[in-house]
Amino acid sequence: MLQSPATTNRRTSQVIPPDTPIIITIDGPAGTGKSTVATELARRLGLDVLDTGAMYRAATAIAIDHGIDPDDHERIVRTVADADLHFDWSKTPPPILAWLRPMDDRIRDEDVSALVSKISAIPELRRHMVRKQRLIFQQHPRLVSEGRDQGSVVFPDATVKFYLDADPRVRARRRAEQLARRGFVVPVDEMLRRILERDEQDSTRSDGPLVCPEDAIVVDTTDMTLDEVVDHLAGLVHARLDRDG
Ligand code: C5P
Repeated sequence: MLQSPATTNRRTSQVIPPDTPIIITIDGPAGTGKSTVATELARRLGLDVLDTGAMYRAATAIAIDHGIDPDDHERIVRTVADADLHFDWSKTPPPILAWLRPMDDRIRDEDVSALVSKISAIPELRRHMVRKQRLIFQQHPRLVSEGRDQGSVVFPDATVKFYLDADPRVRARRRAEQLARRGFVVPVDEMLRRILERDEQDSTRSDGPLVCPEDAIVVDTTDMTLDEVVDHLAGLVHARLDRDG
Protein backbone atom coordinates (compact mmCIF):
# COMPACT_ATOMS: atom_id res chain seq x y z
CA MET A 1 0.00 0.00 0.00
CA LEU A 2 0.96 3.62 -0.19
CA GLN A 3 3.42 3.88 2.64
CA SER A 4 5.63 6.14 4.75
CA PRO A 5 4.20 8.65 7.16
CA ALA A 6 4.31 12.36 6.48
CA THR A 7 3.32 15.21 8.72
CA THR A 8 -0.18 16.49 8.20
CA ASN A 9 -0.98 20.15 8.51
CA ARG A 10 -3.65 21.48 10.81
CA ARG A 11 -5.96 22.47 7.98
CA THR A 12 -6.20 19.03 6.39
CA SER A 13 -6.69 17.38 9.80
CA GLN A 14 -9.77 19.47 10.63
CA VAL A 15 -13.05 17.59 10.97
CA ILE A 16 -16.06 18.77 9.00
CA PRO A 17 -18.58 20.52 11.33
CA PRO A 18 -21.08 17.93 12.61
CA ASP A 19 -24.14 19.69 11.17
CA THR A 20 -22.78 19.61 7.58
CA PRO A 21 -24.22 16.81 5.42
CA ILE A 22 -21.56 15.72 2.95
CA ILE A 23 -20.93 12.92 0.50
CA ILE A 24 -17.47 12.39 -0.95
CA THR A 25 -17.06 9.73 -3.65
CA ILE A 26 -13.81 7.98 -4.52
CA ASP A 27 -13.77 5.82 -7.63
CA GLY A 28 -10.98 4.18 -9.56
CA PRO A 29 -9.47 0.87 -10.66
CA ALA A 30 -8.02 -1.87 -8.44
CA GLY A 31 -4.90 -1.13 -6.41
CA THR A 32 -5.09 2.67 -6.44
CA GLY A 33 -5.43 2.72 -2.65
CA LYS A 34 -9.11 3.72 -2.58
CA SER A 35 -10.08 1.73 0.52
CA THR A 36 -7.14 2.86 2.63
CA VAL A 37 -7.41 6.45 1.45
CA ALA A 38 -11.20 6.52 2.01
CA THR A 39 -10.84 5.11 5.53
CA GLU A 40 -8.12 7.58 6.51
CA LEU A 41 -9.85 10.55 4.86
CA ALA A 42 -13.09 9.70 6.68
CA ARG A 43 -11.24 9.40 9.99
CA ARG A 44 -9.58 12.79 9.54
CA LEU A 45 -12.73 14.59 8.47
CA GLY A 46 -14.95 12.86 11.06
CA LEU A 47 -17.10 11.04 8.48
CA ASP A 48 -18.31 7.46 7.98
CA VAL A 49 -16.79 5.28 5.26
CA LEU A 50 -18.56 2.94 2.85
CA ASP A 51 -16.56 0.26 1.00
CA THR A 52 -18.91 -0.71 -1.83
CA GLY A 53 -16.37 -3.20 -3.20
CA ALA A 54 -16.96 -5.20 0.01
CA MET A 55 -20.65 -5.45 -0.93
CA TYR A 56 -19.90 -6.93 -4.37
CA ARG A 57 -17.21 -9.16 -2.87
CA ALA A 58 -19.70 -10.39 -0.25
CA ALA A 59 -22.25 -11.17 -2.99
CA THR A 60 -19.58 -13.11 -4.88
CA ALA A 61 -18.47 -15.08 -1.81
CA ILE A 62 -22.12 -15.94 -1.11
CA ALA A 63 -22.61 -17.18 -4.70
CA ILE A 64 -19.46 -19.34 -4.52
CA ASP A 65 -20.13 -20.70 -1.03
CA HIS A 66 -23.73 -21.61 -1.92
CA GLY A 67 -22.60 -23.35 -5.09
CA ILE A 68 -24.70 -21.03 -7.26
CA ASP A 69 -23.98 -20.98 -11.00
CA PRO A 70 -22.59 -17.48 -11.82
CA ASP A 71 -25.04 -17.34 -14.73
CA ASP A 72 -28.05 -17.96 -12.48
CA HIS A 73 -28.66 -14.25 -11.91
CA GLU A 74 -32.08 -14.69 -10.38
CA ARG A 75 -30.83 -17.07 -7.68
CA ILE A 76 -27.77 -14.93 -6.92
CA VAL A 77 -29.86 -11.79 -6.42
CA ARG A 78 -32.45 -13.67 -4.35
CA THR A 79 -29.80 -15.22 -2.08
CA VAL A 80 -27.89 -11.95 -1.65
CA ALA A 81 -31.14 -10.12 -0.81
CA ASP A 82 -31.91 -12.85 1.73
CA ALA A 83 -28.43 -12.37 3.28
CA ASP A 84 -29.45 -8.76 4.05
CA LEU A 85 -25.91 -7.41 3.71
CA HIS A 86 -25.11 -4.66 6.11
CA PHE A 87 -22.18 -3.12 7.93
CA ASP A 88 -21.23 -3.08 11.61
CA TRP A 89 -20.91 0.68 12.05
CA SER A 90 -19.52 0.32 15.59
CA LYS A 91 -16.15 -0.64 14.06
CA THR A 92 -13.69 1.27 11.86
CA PRO A 93 -13.64 0.46 9.01
CA PRO A 94 -17.05 -1.23 9.32
CA PRO A 95 -16.90 -4.96 8.48
CA ILE A 96 -19.63 -6.44 6.28
CA LEU A 97 -22.15 -8.96 7.60
CA ALA A 98 -24.34 -11.50 5.83
CA TRP A 99 -27.18 -13.18 7.71
CA LEU A 100 -25.89 -11.13 10.69
CA ARG A 101 -22.52 -12.94 10.59
CA PRO A 102 -19.24 -11.12 9.80
CA MET A 103 -17.74 -12.27 6.50
CA ASP A 104 -14.22 -11.35 7.65
CA ASP A 105 -11.38 -12.00 5.20
CA ARG A 106 -13.44 -14.43 3.10
CA ILE A 107 -14.34 -11.52 0.81
CA ARG A 108 -10.64 -10.87 0.06
CA ASP A 109 -9.83 -14.46 -1.04
CA GLU A 110 -8.49 -14.95 -4.53
CA ASP A 111 -11.44 -17.07 -5.76
CA VAL A 112 -13.67 -14.12 -4.84
CA SER A 113 -11.36 -11.59 -6.55
CA ALA A 114 -11.30 -13.75 -9.68
CA LEU A 115 -15.11 -13.88 -9.98
CA VAL A 116 -16.23 -10.53 -8.54
CA SER A 117 -16.20 -8.60 -11.83
CA LYS A 118 -18.48 -11.15 -13.49
CA ILE A 119 -20.92 -11.17 -10.56
CA SER A 120 -20.92 -7.39 -10.19
CA ALA A 121 -21.89 -7.00 -13.85
CA ILE A 122 -25.33 -8.53 -13.13
CA PRO A 123 -27.74 -5.60 -13.70
CA GLU A 124 -30.34 -6.75 -11.13
CA LEU A 125 -27.62 -7.15 -8.52
CA ARG A 126 -26.31 -3.65 -9.25
CA ARG A 127 -29.81 -2.21 -8.84
CA HIS A 128 -30.08 -3.96 -5.47
CA MET A 129 -26.69 -2.59 -4.36
CA VAL A 130 -27.36 0.97 -5.58
CA ARG A 131 -30.61 1.00 -3.58
CA LYS A 132 -28.78 -0.25 -0.50
CA GLN A 133 -25.96 2.29 -0.89
CA ARG A 134 -28.41 5.20 -1.16
CA LEU A 135 -30.24 3.92 1.90
CA ILE A 136 -26.95 3.75 3.79
CA PHE A 137 -26.31 7.40 2.88
CA GLN A 138 -29.74 8.35 4.26
CA GLN A 139 -28.71 6.75 7.55
CA HIS A 140 -25.10 8.09 7.39
CA PRO A 141 -25.41 11.51 5.76
CA ARG A 142 -21.73 12.34 6.32
CA LEU A 143 -20.04 9.76 4.18
CA VAL A 144 -16.97 8.89 2.12
CA SER A 145 -18.09 6.24 -0.37
CA GLU A 146 -15.62 4.37 -2.53
CA GLY A 147 -16.03 2.00 -5.46
CA ARG A 148 -16.39 2.12 -9.24
CA ASP A 149 -19.72 3.90 -9.84
CA GLN A 150 -20.16 6.04 -6.76
CA GLY A 151 -19.70 9.41 -8.45
CA SER A 152 -21.16 8.40 -11.81
CA VAL A 153 -24.30 6.46 -10.85
CA VAL A 154 -25.00 6.19 -7.13
CA PHE A 155 -24.30 9.75 -5.94
CA PRO A 156 -24.23 11.97 -9.05
CA ASP A 157 -24.76 15.06 -6.84
CA ALA A 158 -21.85 14.26 -4.50
CA THR A 159 -20.22 17.21 -2.73
CA VAL A 160 -16.78 16.26 -4.06
CA LYS A 161 -15.88 13.44 -6.46
CA PHE A 162 -12.42 11.95 -6.68
CA TYR A 163 -11.03 9.49 -9.21
CA LEU A 164 -7.84 7.76 -8.10
CA ASP A 165 -5.49 6.28 -10.65
CA ALA A 166 -1.94 4.88 -10.63
CA ASP A 167 0.53 3.15 -12.90
CA PRO A 168 -0.76 -0.45 -13.40
CA ARG A 169 2.56 -2.01 -12.31
CA VAL A 170 2.52 -0.02 -9.08
CA ARG A 171 -1.08 -1.07 -8.51
CA ALA A 172 -0.14 -4.71 -9.08
CA ARG A 173 2.74 -4.42 -6.63
CA ARG A 174 0.50 -2.91 -3.94
CA ARG A 175 -2.07 -5.70 -4.35
CA ALA A 176 0.66 -8.37 -4.26
CA GLU A 177 2.02 -6.82 -1.05
CA GLN A 178 -1.46 -6.77 0.51
CA LEU A 179 -1.87 -10.47 -0.27
CA ALA A 180 1.63 -11.29 0.95
CA ARG A 181 0.72 -9.76 4.32
CA ARG A 182 -2.07 -12.38 4.47
CA GLY A 183 0.41 -15.14 3.61
CA PHE A 184 -0.40 -15.54 -0.12
CA VAL A 185 2.44 -15.09 -2.57
CA VAL A 186 1.43 -13.94 -6.05
CA PRO A 187 4.18 -12.75 -8.45
CA VAL A 188 3.73 -9.12 -9.51
CA ASP A 189 3.44 -10.07 -13.21
CA GLU A 190 0.60 -12.48 -12.45
CA MET A 191 -1.09 -9.84 -10.27
CA LEU A 192 -0.72 -7.32 -13.09
CA ARG A 193 -2.48 -9.72 -15.47
CA ARG A 194 -5.30 -10.27 -12.97
CA ILE A 195 -5.96 -6.60 -12.18
CA LEU A 196 -5.82 -5.57 -15.84
CA GLU A 197 -8.36 -8.28 -16.62
CA ARG A 198 -10.58 -7.06 -13.77
CA ASP A 199 -10.24 -3.40 -14.90
CA GLU A 200 -11.20 -4.42 -18.42
CA GLN A 201 -14.30 -6.27 -17.21
CA ASP A 202 -15.25 -3.45 -14.82
CA SER A 203 -14.93 -0.74 -17.48
CA THR A 204 -16.72 -2.52 -20.30
CA ARG A 205 -19.88 -3.78 -18.56
CA SER A 206 -23.09 -2.10 -19.67
CA ASP A 207 -24.43 -1.27 -16.23
CA GLY A 208 -22.47 1.02 -13.87
CA PRO A 209 -19.08 0.61 -15.59
CA LEU A 210 -15.91 2.05 -14.10
CA VAL A 211 -15.69 5.55 -15.58
CA CYS A 212 -14.12 8.78 -14.49
CA PRO A 213 -17.04 11.16 -13.86
CA GLU A 214 -16.67 14.40 -15.84
CA ASP A 215 -16.74 16.51 -12.69
CA ALA A 216 -14.32 14.31 -10.71
CA ILE A 217 -10.91 15.45 -9.52
CA VAL A 218 -8.35 12.97 -10.86
CA VAL A 219 -5.47 12.10 -8.54
CA ASP A 220 -2.57 9.93 -9.72
CA THR A 221 -1.26 8.13 -6.64
CA THR A 222 1.69 6.42 -8.38
CA ASP A 223 4.40 8.38 -6.57
CA MET A 224 2.43 9.51 -3.53
CA THR A 225 2.42 8.18 0.02
CA LEU A 226 -0.86 7.50 1.80
CA ASP A 227 -0.51 10.67 3.87
CA GLU A 228 0.24 12.77 0.81
CA VAL A 229 -2.89 11.50 -0.92
CA VAL A 230 -5.09 12.00 2.14
CA ASP A 231 -3.65 15.49 2.78
CA HIS A 232 -4.27 16.43 -0.82
CA LEU A 233 -7.86 15.15 -0.83
CA ALA A 234 -8.68 16.68 2.57
CA GLY A 235 -7.33 20.05 1.39
CA LEU A 236 -9.51 19.88 -1.73
CA VAL A 237 -12.60 18.99 0.33
CA HIS A 238 -12.05 21.96 2.67
CA ALA A 239 -11.45 24.26 -0.30
CA ARG A 240 -14.70 23.09 -1.93
CA LEU A 241 -16.70 23.60 1.28
CA ASP A 242 -15.17 27.10 1.72
CA ARG A 243 -16.00 27.99 -1.88
CA ASP A 244 -19.59 26.77 -1.59
CA GLY A 245 -20.09 28.47 1.76
O1 C5P B 1 -12.67 -2.22 -4.66
P1 C5P B 1 -12.54 -3.71 -4.77
O2 C5P B 1 -11.33 -4.14 -5.54
O3 C5P B 1 -12.69 -4.42 -3.48
O4 C5P B 1 -13.80 -4.12 -5.67
C1 C5P B 1 -13.99 -5.46 -6.06
C2 C5P B 1 -14.84 -5.50 -7.30
O5 C5P B 1 -16.19 -5.13 -6.98
C3 C5P B 1 -14.45 -4.60 -8.45
O6 C5P B 1 -13.42 -5.16 -9.26
C4 C5P B 1 -15.75 -4.47 -9.20
O7 C5P B 1 -15.96 -5.59 -10.05
C5 C5P B 1 -16.80 -4.53 -8.09
N1 C5P B 1 -17.29 -3.21 -7.72
C6 C5P B 1 -18.27 -2.65 -8.50
N2 C5P B 1 -18.83 -1.47 -8.14
C7 C5P B 1 -18.43 -0.83 -7.04
C8 C5P B 1 -17.40 -1.37 -6.24
C9 C5P B 1 -16.84 -2.57 -6.62
O8 C5P B 1 -18.64 -3.21 -9.52
N3 C5P B 1 -19.02 0.30 -6.70
